[in-house]
Amino acid sequence: MNRSEPFIRKAELYGAANYHPLPIVITRAEGVWLEDADGRRYLDMLSAYSAVNQGHRHPKIIQALTEQAGRVTLTSRAFHHDLAGDWYEAVCRWTGKTTVLPMNTGAEAVETAIKAARRWAYEVKGIPDSQAEIIVCRNNFHGRTIAVTSASTEPAYRAGFGPFTPGFVTVPFGDAEALRQAINERTAAFLFEPIQGEAGIIIPPAGYLREAAALCRSHGVLTIADEIQTGLGRTGKKFACDWEDVQPDVYVLGKALGGGVLPVSAVAGDREVLGVFNPGSHGSTFGGNPLACAVSLAALQVLEDENLAERARTSGVWLLERLKQIRSPLIRDVRGQGLLIGIELQGPARPYCERLMEAGLLCKETHDRVIRIAPPLTIREDELDWAADCVEDVLTER
Ligand code: PLP
Repeated sequence: MNRSEPFIRKAELYGAANYHPLPIVITRAEGVWLEDADGRRYLDMLSAYSAVNQGHRHPKIIQALTEQAGRVTLTSRAFHHDLAGDWYEAVCRWTGKTTVLPMNTGAEAVETAIKAARRWAYEVKGIPDSQAEIIVCRNNFHGRTIAVTSASTEPAYRAGFGPFTPGFVTVPFGDAEALRQAINERTAAFLFEPIQGEAGIIIPPAGYLREAAALCRSHGVLTIADEIQTGLGRTGKKFACDWEDVQPDVYVLGKALGGGVLPVSAVAGDREVLGVFNPGSHGSTFGGNPLACAVSLAALQVLEDENLAERARTSGVWLLERLKQIRSPLIRDVRGQGLLIGIELQGPARPYCERLMEAGLLCKETHDRVIRIAPPLTIREDELDWAADCVEDVLTER
């Protein structure tokens, strides 16, 4: 019996077709496990694109959610609420910054960082009005809004969505010299992912982030690290920038900040930058709402209490080594940092994701040829071992 079919048919009938999901209907989730409409269990190797670092329905996060739901869920920013200060403080502690601006989705937080950088450029750096440039990297992914899409170089993300927002300059990712050449007197900021996730888990050459940060600092250019996918333990450190001891001027956070429960995002920076916002200049009805703050406080606490960055680091080293040992003519490259791993194939990855699904492992292709491996950071060794065996079986077509 296949109970999934009617759910899929109905969703396809009424929903816009802006995704191409695997043909599976999830009805329950707990920890690292998902269950479909027929009661089959699958190991989650995607974590909702790194939004479920803490595992599905972590009891402490769910407890925070339900307790807060019994008190107050939404105030808007028209009034204060009693959790905002605690949550801002927690995000400041995590990032080492002094100031936080709450939003909901990742793309909104990136937009917020872009607005901050532009205002900072005019009010602090002294760039003439409306002339600020933001340098971005080729093959970046920062979300789906129009400004962020304007910064993208990916035809599939851009086709049919013009006219685009001006003010972005593109450089190749991983090339510090190209960045140096792109910086001019109108450059406000350099916006980058420390590891390009959607582009296929692209890790820049060693030293690149450090060199880029030093270049920006010497030219009075803000560094804005989009750690929405790589942050909060995913790569084996608090932030992927930590691998090169880089402290960007601005962190953009999302995904796991909401513990896989609610959309919670934030921009964290120092007062010199985020102080450019004054009442009326920016906002969000739901940004920093009490329910989000309660959930996010618990989500951050779980990351800390369970040492999840360190677990991602040790599990990641083991898994990467294990996957690299798979001998298969299908595999072109295996790369990663912590529990953010890409297996690049010689051809399309989709059929292998479908086979992995049949074997009980949920992965998703990114950029056609790469299987992204990003389980919840709570995954146990025996579960990883089983996952690696499944990948080996499927990729060696045993
Ligand atoms: N930035 C990065 C690096 C991401 O990986 C994503 C989502 O995948 C986003 C931004 C956009 O986040 P959201 O989908 O929450 O808008």
